[in-house]
Amino acid sequence: MIRHPEISGNRILTRCIYCNKTFKGKSGLDDHIVKRHPDFIASVSRKIHECTQCTYKTTYGRCIREHLMIKHPEISVIVFLVDVSTVIRRLKVNKDWMIT
Ligand SMILES: [Zn+2]
Ligand SMILES: [Zn+2]
Repeated sequence: MIRHPEISGNRILTRCIYCNKTFKGKSGLDDHIVKRHPDFIASVSRKIHECTQCTYKTTYGRCIREHLMIKHPEISVIVFLVDVSTVIRRLKVNKDWMIT
């Protein structure tokens, strides 16, 4: 069984094997691979959210919602209706994913 470094301690960084960029967790790395190394998207194990209106992809559900609101406001109304409380709460803490 493979022991994932992010489980053994939150100080251990996860490194991108394609460009050596480091991330605090596997989720950040996965999102980076989706965005920067789409050729290797098959190596990402977590669920990938794809925009139905353009080529945007992310591993974060909150990111696809924010992307929809910013880039495709006309369809994001539907997302708002479904998930309004979650979206508003997360908009206030959206600084962490904007760093990468
Ligand atoms: Zn990389
Ligand atoms: Zn889009």
